[in-house]
Amino acid sequence: MPEMLEVEEYRRLAARTLDRTIVGVHAPDAWFLKGGLTASAVTAALLGRSFSTDRRIGKLLLLDVADGPTLGLRFGMTGRLLVDGRAAIDRLEYSSDRNDPKWDRFGLDFADGGALRLRDPRRLGGVELDPDEDRLGIDAAAIGAAQLRDLLAGSEAPLKARLLDQARIAGIGNLLADEMLWRAGLDPARPAASLSPAEVRRLHRHLRATLDELGTRGGSHMGDLQEMRSRDGVCPRDGAPLVRRTVGGRTTYSCPRHQR
Ligand SMILES: [Zn+2]
Repeated sequence: MPEMLEVEEYRRLAARTLDRTIVGVHAPDAWFLKGGLTASAVTAALLGRSFSTDRRIGKLLLLDVADGPTLGLRFGMTGRLLVDGRAAIDRLEYSSDRNDPKWDRFGLDFADGGALRLRDPRRLGGVELDPDEDRLGIDAAAIGAAQLRDLLAGSEAPLKARLLDQARIAGIGNLLADEMLWRAGLDPARPAASLSPAEVRRLHRHLRATLDELGTRGGSHMGDLQEMRSRDGVCPRDGAPLVRRTVGGRTTYSCPRHQR
């Protein structure tokens, strides 16, 4: 699934569309247009224009039109970005390996013959003009230790639920959350506010390291815990059978021995 590491790859790919004149807009799926957007409105906003900057906040990819609106792209569980026929990521965890143009929910054609396509089998992503960026918290890659402490303080919500709350910390999805909590030795179900100052610092260190390492390895499914995410999985660190629970509404794997 695209988490922030995957969307960061999409952002790098989308940078190839900057300063290229848009000569075609395809919005065949009204469901995929969000925030009251219509096919005619998005066409009118983009046709003949070009993007000047590429940005990312959490899992939201933003392309700013020069002196115009901002195009927001969301990828849900199965969305992929293609630019000039090239994909940023060949295969997505949890996504169908099939790859069919009939799943193109949105597309742009450029004057030079190239194209951008958003391909999403399950249609859980979306396209929006001028999305409300204030609804997203700070990007997880930019969060400092003191900010993390403030975001966890006073909350009886499970630690993992707090990390997944995009309005507070943008970009962390299910796989990244499990991986960083496993590395930090913290129980995902603990109340967020119960962490000591030393535990918050440890979590922050592992949050940064997890994003750096998995980004280098190629995505959020490249964690050390990943291959043990199954019903008979054991902890790669100490061999204890992993616990499988629902925490924060998501299937969660954790080690009962070293995650406390
Ligand atoms: Zn363990």
